[in-house]
Amino acid sequence: MEDTYLQDELDRLAACGNLRVLTPAEHRGGKVIAGGRTMLNLSSNDYLGIAGDMDLRSGFLDRLTPEDLVMSSSSSRSLSGEFPVYGQVEATLAGMFGKEAALVFNSGYQMNLGILPAIAGKDTLIVADKLVHASIIDGIRLSAAEVIRFRHNNMVQLGNILEKEHGRHRDIIIAVESVYSMDGDRADLELLCRLKRRYGNVSLYVDEAHAFGVFGEHGLGLAEELGCIPDIDFLCGTFGKALGSMGAFVVCSRTIRDFLINRMRPFIFSTALPPLNWSWTLFLLGKLPGMKERREHLRTISGMLRGELEPYCPGMVSGTQIIPVVAGESEAAVRYAGKLQEAGFFVLPVRPPTVPEGSSRLRFSLTADMTEEDIDALARAVHNIMQA
Ligand code: PMP
Repeated sequence: MEDTYLQDELDRLAACGNLRVLTPAEHRGGKVIAGGRTMLNLSSNDYLGIAGDMDLRSGFLDRLTPEDLVMSSSSSRSLSGEFPVYGQVEATLAGMFGKEAALVFNSGYQMNLGILPAIAGKDTLIVADKLVHASIIDGIRLSAAEVIRFRHNNMVQLGNILEKEHGRHRDIIIAVESVYSMDGDRADLELLCRLKRRYGNVSLYVDEAHAFGVFGEHGLGLAEELGCIPDIDFLCGTFGKALGSMGAFVVCSRTIRDFLINRMRPFIFSTALPPLNWSWTLFLLGKLPGMKERREHLRTISGMLRGELEPYCPGMVSGTQIIPVVAGESEAAVRYAGKLQEAGFFVLPVRPPTVPEGSSRLRFSLTADMTEEDIDALARAVHNIMQA
């Protein structure tokens, strides 16, 4: 491949403000130090403030012995990499959700990339929300299934598709997220469950990546909060966001679990995450139900910031800790983000292809270790910049 072609493409991205570069940063709790500046981190998915919590780290370290420090599984789980801690995490998850089984994965990306192609054959129809995450789209692309995308959160259109298609396919899988990562809005899970129940051959796949830890009495997600867990066939979540760890999970029936172990290629053909990582996840899962105060505080400060930013977001759909301000063209988003960083707030521009052309935005991602004073100061900085 000609290098000049690649460089031309990079130049083109730079010219329209869409060039991505990696910014080295140090992390101190909820603060980030980059370019010599200490800033409040508004670009992290550490929604409960766990990843930067030194007390939790110390509590975990106190229990460790050198034998626990297994930094590599040295193999895929299907070969010799099956350590007891994986099963302990899975049994814990199945118990917490009250489901038959659970299976864990190395990352949310692998989870979405692998589950759909494993379970969906050519007789399957996948009906997916227009705004599902890139990893779900890539999973759909790798599957042999037929696909129909419905307009974002449009339950009328989804209902019509199911009514028309349910007799034409062996099975249908509805694929959605419970909280959408770029707009911070929620899916209508109760209605999705009602629609699914109308037909014997429709199942529901819900990615709770941005809701697990944050919603529900025990922090299990939006499905817990709305009483929808029993109706969701593939209830997926990730550990790299609110749980402050790494990896992902699906809670499901025992048959689905067994099937995935046999057919899911990223599960079969990749070295499993180190046992030490799963010990940390297991430790945190034990703490999650008790983190109610963090969840409530996050809810309070998210409501505050949504109220403050409403004037800049006509028709704001966010009802969560993810609060976007759409700037339009990428150059504008880059400029606003730069000014906020100068003012001490680490906000990054979100640009195509992550969001559609013309809808580049600042994405404020709140975490439970922020104070009401932090939110006031942030709101003042946004007002000053937007009104300048
Ligand atoms: N699903 C959704 C909805 C996500 O937003 C993301 C990551 N941003 C993933 C899956 C991927 O998860 P992971 O980062 O663990 O690969």
